[in-house]
Amino acid sequence: MTNSQKKAPLPQTIQGNKSKWEIVVGMEVHAQIKSKSKLFSEAPTNFGNEPNANVSLVDAAMPGMLPVLNNFCVDQAIKTGLGLKAKINRFSQFDRKNYFYPDLPQGYQISQLYYPLVGEGEVTVQIEEDSKRTVGIERIHIEQDAGKSIHDMDPNLSFIDLNRTGVGLMEIVSRPHIRSSNEAAAYLKKLRQILQYLDTCDGNMQEGSLRADVNVSVIQEGAYERYVQTNDLSNLGTRCEIKNMNSMRFIQQAIDFEAKRQVAILEDGGQIVQETRLYDPDSGKTKSMRSKEEAHDYRYFPCPDLPPLAISQDRIDRIREKLPELPDEKKSRFIDDFGLTEYDAGVLTIDKASADFFEEVVIDDNGKLVANWIINELFGRLNKEGLQIANSPVSAAYLKEILSYLVKSEISSKMAKELFDLVWTTNKSPTDLIEEHGMRQVTDHGHIQKLVEDLINENPQQAQKVSSNPKVVGWFVGQVMKATHGKANPKVTNALVAEKLGVDQ
Ligand code: MN
Repeated sequence: MTNSQKKAPLPQTIQGNKSKWEIVVGMEVHAQIKSKSKLFSEAPTNFGNEPNANVSLVDAAMPGMLPVLNNFCVDQAIKTGLGLKAKINRFSQFDRKNYFYPDLPQGYQISQLYYPLVGEGEVTVQIEEDSKRTVGIERIHIEQDAGKSIHDMDPNLSFIDLNRTGVGLMEIVSRPHIRSSNEAAAYLKKLRQILQYLDTCDGNMQEGSLRADVNVSVIQEGAYERYVQTNDLSNLGTRCEIKNMNSMRFIQQAIDFEAKRQVAILEDGGQIVQETRLYDPDSGKTKSMRSKEEAHDYRYFPCPDLPPLAISQDRIDRIREKLPELPDEKKSRFIDDFGLTEYDAGVLTIDKASADFFEEVVIDDNGKLVANWIINELFGRLNKEGLQIANSPVSAAYLKEILSYLVKSEISSKMAKELFDLVWTTNKSPTDLIEEHGMRQVTDHGHIQKLVEDLINENPQQAQKVSSNPKVVGWFVGQVMKATHGKANPKVTNALVAEKLGVDQ
């Protein structure tokens, strides 16, 4: 089934005591820009360095320090915009978002409110085998990250680590097009996959490289259609924002809880207060953090330290020319060129490393065989041993060697599995191991033919039985296998025995 044949999935519903409700979700994803240095300083961005080791005078907001825009970070954000089929704004501008926080030495965050770098785009997310959701992207702006306050190292003191201060972020804002907790997780997964293919964000959620603020509201049947027709957001009810989520599972749990909480309030005659909430995985509940601020609370104004950002069409074109093949295109190509099923192509393109591995191994028209081997044997073993494909003990070159012996029937598939295991444990080349273990399958017709003839001559009574019992063929094949210690090619042997005994096959 091609992408265009897939339908939009039904929204997730919640049955209240009085009526049925639907869920609406929009997401703001903060993706750390993959770059060696920060957005406005030369300080490194490495994760896990000693606290406060990655701090320049600019990041520490020393008097008189001025931000200098990192052009590589801008290129990365443009690349991301192009990957999400978005419009790149030739003119954008930086604004100061003013607020106090101990881990924000400047007293403001440099962000882009009025003129973001990237405009409207979209992400297509497969939900079920026959359904997909296209989620609109409203904008992507670039901004600095804040530092980290550490409250759990000492009972009486808090600590500040400014390593993350000033690291470049892309804030990817979706439209409220997500209609279930399941879709929310699928959207984030797809977004992460695209960012990783583009190499603009490492997508590491544990390290906080990808964090989502999730906006949830509940509506009555029909309200969403009115929103679609009028584009009037007031049809979507009052939303609550669940802040800083960095786990797909917790995002799903938080949305499910939050939607039920809102339904209970509304059915009780209450009103939803627009606010920021936090999800507590231990209790499975969201709790109020603070009432939601509006943009005007932050007294945004254009940053006087930075000129407006002008992007030439030439710069956009150069980045577009170098865009890599993205997951959806790669998946379609694998289906078309190698005859893979949609499922197999999906599994093999989950990350670029797996897709590259497959393409290195695949030989001409044996795509299905190679896909099966990678998905079942290789991924199975990697999972079992907790390894990533980048550290696979069987390299793509060695797997290709194993499978080319199999394709040429020089080894049986049972032998290929044994060989795979030997390569995995010894890291020797498949060719050396075949010699060392005498694994080459006998396909020499003359040799097998001679064995078959001898066996028939030595066992005339067995040979005569074949007219009443065709299974006797199997007995002769077994004898040939025995004589060759299992190395005779079973197909060739079977054919030769049948021919000699005059059995039609
Ligand atoms: Mn932000």
